[in-house]
Order: sequence, then structure tokens, then C-alpha cells
Amino acid sequence: MSATNWPSIISELAELEIITDAVQLSKLSLDYYHFSPILSKKLNNKRANLVVRPVNEVEVLKIAQTCVKYQVPLTVRGAGTGNYGQCIPLEGGVVLDTTKMNQIRSLEPGLACVEAGVKMAAFDKKAREIGWELRMAPSTYRTATIGGFIGGGSAGMGSITYGQLRDRGNLQAVRVVTLEDEPRILELRGDDVQKVNHAYGTNGIITELEIPLAPAYPWVELIVIFDQFMRAARFGQALGDSDGIVKKLITIQAWPIPSYLTALEDYLPQGKHAALLMISQYDLEPFQNLVKEYGGEITYQKTATEATKGSSLLEFTWNHTTLHARSIDPNLTYLQTFYFTLERVEQMYDYFGEEAMIHLEFLRVGGKAIPAGLQLIRFTTEERLNEIIRYHEEQGAGIANPHTYILEDGGRKVIDPEQLAFKEKVDPYGLMNPGKMRAWLERAVSV
Ligand SMILES: Cc1cc2nc3c(=O)[nH]c(=O)nc-3n(C[C@H](O)[C@H](O)[C@H](O)COP(=O)(O)OP(=O)(O)OC[C@H]3O[C@@H](n4cnc5c(N)ncnc54)[C@H](O)[C@@H]3O)c2cc1C
Repeated sequence: MSATNWPSIISELAELEIITDAVQLSKLSLDYYHFSPILSKKLNNKRANLVVRPVNEVEVLKIAQTCVKYQVPLTVRGAGTGNYGQCIPLEGGVVLDTTKMNQIRSLEPGLACVEAGVKMAAFDKKAREIGWELRMAPSTYRTATIGGFIGGGSAGMGSITYGQLRDRGNLQAVRVVTLEDEPRILELRGDDVQKVNHAYGTNGIITELEIPLAPAYPWVELIVIFDQFMRAARFGQALGDSDGIVKKLITIQAWPIPSYLTALEDYLPQGKHAALLMISQYDLEPFQNLVKEYGGEITYQKTATEATKGSSLLEFTWNHTTLHARSIDPNLTYLQTFYFTLERVEQMYDYFGEEAMIHLEFLRVGGKAIPAGLQLIRFTTEERLNEIIRYHEEQGAGIANPHTYILEDGGRKVIDPEQLAFKEKVDPYGLMNPGKMRAWLERAVSV
């Protein structure tokens, strides 16, 4: 990198918004990697040399051409809310910030086409005007970009009905800028979108996305409390399995997790386990009957209109639970787990106690509602963390390891030959977010 001619690069990109200020470079190079004590040590000194903020695809092409010409790494960044260092430039170079590419190209019942930097909550505000909304969104919904969610996210509110981002149909088409000798714009449709879906921006710059929408219900936000954790967990499963109750969020938190949500303390009494939920207003009566059946008590209820004022319960669920807990106890970290069954949840609850506090998010996998975990871990050492991971895996749980920035070592576990083949085609010099795709690193060693 020392030989890179940065003044020439800057002059080639002079008509674009360029950021070189050290404080800004620092801010725009990092994400929420610090949720992991392991990543924290490895990534805290990584910085881009330059951040460029294009406003349209023509400018993206110009950046791609320049990076190829000068053979400098290019890392795409949306809002930078990824929590495994996905958008941290390991080898410096250019960070391409998409947040000014925020046009909604088209919006019609059931389908929209957006630029990659459109923010999710801003999009939903528009979509709801015609009775539709995003099928799913992370708890970073207010700030995260749609392109960044596709590049680095996996599931969120809505996943109890629509599954995960990787499920066929949840992304319909993308436009991608390549880093070939002559950068091009490619359009991928149907199953071809999987070539870039959740690829950490290692094989193409997504400029536009076509996304399917869901009918927008008036979502009531509720908290239900329970005396026993497994009662709460069984209630979550029963609600997930209740096909006649339309819902968007089923979060279950074992005590003491609710004690970290201080803004909600009036509704989360000492020692009680909690369910944080979003239910269609039209299904409240059957929902209340289910609560009664499981011995729960409703302590908080906001109508859809009330819920739009102030913080949504969403911002206490998914990885926002981790955020709140860490703001009180920075020694806490987390895991991401597919328990698949409640028996396994119970086994882990009994085995680890408060060392791995159980936080469940129910989502639909292969057509079934299953409990996934974002457990809060009392971190001691890396060895102990790995032991906890191993124990879960030995017992049949699937861990999507959030303590690695390597794409395949997180959730996927195996190399995706299609994503590698696409990278070989569109990024032959390996300039895109280098160091993140194991398949490419291993291929580079063997050739
Ligand atoms: C408090 C908190 C809560 C979270 N909750 C959730 C959750 O509920 N569900 C979930 O799935 N995730 C969650 N996350 C992770 C993260 O917020 C989401 O993945 C989010 O959608 C990322 O969007 P972003 O715009 O910030 O992307 P970034 O972090 O900027 O980017 C993410 C990845 O995508 C790549 N990328 C970004 N834009 C493009 C593009 N245009 N083309 C190609 N590649 C691109 C980047 O290079 C990077 O690898 C959470 C994180 C935090 C800190």
C-alpha cells in the first residue's frame, strides 16, 4: 500500500464527495465489531485511506474504475451497523459509503426497487402510505441500509412469518457494479441473486435492489411476563405455531436480561422472564387467550399509532438486547444459535445458568417456527467462549459464530462455490473487501 499514489486517486475522484479527515476516516472504517472481545482486539486499528460517497451508479462505476486502475482495495459500507467487522477495511484502501444513494426507484403494491443506500425505516414510511412494508428488518431498522442488510444481515422482525433473507423470494433482483478491467453493471435475477446475497460485499457493489413487500398491519407492541423461563419459551413457540395470529416479532428473554432494559423497567418486574411482541391489532383477542393459557401477564401494550412515537419495542430485541446489556456491563458478549427445539433450549438453560443468559428470537426456518438464540455470555476467556460454542455444537445446536469476520466461518460454515465463481469473474484482482472470503484466500494460496 505504501506505493499507492493517493494524490492521483484523489484527483481522479475530485468531482465526488471524498473524505480524508482522520476522525471521519476512523468513524467510517469501523462498525459494531466491538460486541466481540475477540474481534475488538483484531480490528480496532484498521482504517481506510479514503472514503468516497457516490450519489449514483455512474459515480460508483468511476470509483470501481479508479480502484482497478490503481489496484487498491475497495470496501462497501452502508450504515456500518454490522457486528462482525463486515465493512472494516482490513487492508485499508477506499471505503465506498452508499448512504447518499437513497432513491426509491419504484414502489408498487407488493414490490419495490430501491438504491442500495435507502434506509429501512425511511422506506417503510413511504411504503405504508400504500399499505405495504418491508418483509423483514433488523433491529437497526432506523439506521441500516437495505443494501447493507442484504450484504451483511440475515433476519429480524418479520422473520417469524417470512423466514430469512437467504430464503428464495426474499430478494428478487440486484444490479451490481464489477471490478473488472472495464467495470460493468450486471443485473442478477431470481436464484442468481444468491451470488451476492450475504457476501459481505466481496463480489460486487450492489447499486439497486428489487425487493418483495408484505401487507402492512397495524402492529400492537406488547410485553408479557412469566414466572418461569420455560413457560415463556413454550408460549413463544405456541405463538409462533399459531397460524391464525398474525405477528411480526416474538422475543423471549430469561431473567436477568430484562434488568438490562432500563427504559422499560416499569413493565419488567424483578425476577420475571419476558416476551416482547408485535401482534396484528386484529388478532388481539385470540392472542390474549393464548397468554391466559400459558399463565402470562400483559404489562405493556401500545397501539400501532402510539408505538410510532418514541422507541419501538424492536429496539430492545434482536441485537439491540446485546447493545443495552453491554452498555451496563461491557464484559458481556453474545452468541447466535439455532437451537431448533425447546428441549435443547431447556438443556442449555439448565447447563449454563447465567453464564449464557438465554435470549430467544423465533423465526421461520423451512416452514416451521423455531427458537434461535442471541444469548448474552459472561465473557471470561477466549478458550471458555470456544468451549461454550463447542458444547452447543456437540449437543446439536447450530452456532453462527459472531466472533469471526470471515464469511464462511460465521453462519455458513461451508464455502459457497457460486459466490467464489462470481468473485473470480467480477473481482479478478481480489480488491473487494479483501480478507473476508475464505474461499478466495484459500484459492489464492493454491494457485
Ligand atoms: C444493535 C445491533 C442490532 C442488530 N440487529 C440485527 C438484526 O436484527 N438482524 C440482522 O440480520 N442483523 C442485525 N445487526 C447487524 C446489522 O445491523 C445488520 O446486518 C444491518 O442490516 C447492516 O446494515 P448496514 O447498512 O449497517 O450495513 P453495513 O454494516 O454497512 O454493511 C454490512 C455488510 O454489507 C456490505 N455491503 C453494504 N452495502 C453493500 C452494497 N451496496 N453492496 C455490496 N455489499 C454491501 C458491507 O461491505 C458489509 O460487509 C445488528 C447490529 C447491531 C449493532
